[in-house]
Amino acid sequence: MEKIIRQLKGSKRVFIASHINPDGDAIGSLIATALALDALGKKVCMYNESPIPAVYRFLPDANRIVRAIPRTENLRDYDTAVILDCGNLARIGSIAENINRIPVLVNIDHHATNNAFGNLHCVDTAACATSEIIYRIVRKMNIPVSKAMATAIYTGIFTDTGSFRFANTNKAAFAICDEMVEKGVEPYTVAQHLYGTYSLGRIKLLNLALDSIELLLNGELSFMTLTKDMMEETGTQPEDVDGMIHYAKRIEDVKVAVLIQETHNGLKNGSGRSCFHVSLRSDGSVDVAALATAFGGGGHHRAAGFSSEVSLRELKGGIIRWLQNAANRAGIPC
Ligand code: AMP
Ligand code: MN
Ligand code: MN
Repeated sequence: MEKIIRQLKGSKRVFIASHINPDGDAIGSLIATALALDALGKKVCMYNESPIPAVYRFLPDANRIVRAIPRTENLRDYDTAVILDCGNLARIGSIAENINRIPVLVNIDHHATNNAFGNLHCVDTAACATSEIIYRIVRKMNIPVSKAMATAIYTGIFTDTGSFRFANTNKAAFAICDEMVEKGVEPYTVAQHLYGTYSLGRIKLLNLALDSIELLLNGELSFMTLTKDMMEETGTQPEDVDGMIHYAKRIEDVKVAVLIQETHNGLKNGSGRSCFHVSLRSDGSVDVAALATAFGGGGHHRAAGFSSEVSLRELKGGIIRWLQNAANRAGIPC
């Protein structure tokens, strides 16, 4: 962390990016880092290749996040890149190919599968969120925590811990959020923005999602499947799927829940192939980060994901086989 602090202090222009299809931690840590560097008088660019989900647009300065480098700028203009909440560099999207034009790459993350990319790393798998690590850096640098920064940090921790329900909820989550409330965060306001209202389409999509649930392996594995057609029918966006996997996860006896979300419809994009994002959750008895890694993705022990272009049938078959093999290897029920 000291080296990272020295690098940030010595930098003039910092490019900050977090993972595609961002969650509250990806956006919260991005904004908190930018506000901290603003306070130090640095020039910063906040970058995320995906649209910012509507529920996070209330966050201060969310409108500064860009999806492409401004035309007047060049990656070579930056002396430091800070990559947040990404287990591997490819998670920032297509800009990963050119990011090495920036001389120093800093990797700040909490994923178990982090592959230590970049020149300087601060990867703490015990941190509940990347926003927790950013809080520690801000504190170490003696940067004052404004209400705006506090809201970003609070949102990162609040969302990544599933409102303090997930297994990554630690003492720091409560201590930091308590302090952020001292700094002016209004918990009810934040919770209302994040979870207070859903569009009718989202509720209809939830209905289809619940209907798609299948149980396999003696009820220990659940699949939830969402197609592009379902999203079109309900007029919803990929971000509306957020949180739905928990219904598949909380079914009695389920040890592993899988949400398969079609991101391209093969028939419509002309390639003949569908593309899926797969979300995995476990009750802790199965390491889904290992499962995701086997399919080219990553994540945490209890929450992980990957993308796939094989058919739905092959995809489900592959997951079932991996779980059966893991059960045989370790004697894990499932
Ligand atoms: P999700 O199911 O998309 O909410 O993701 C669960 C966890 O897995 C998050 O911590 C993600 O950062 C991680 N994850 C999801 N997809 C990927 C991927 N393709 N590669 C690496 N990590 C991923
Ligand atoms: Mn994330
Ligand atoms: Mn995170």
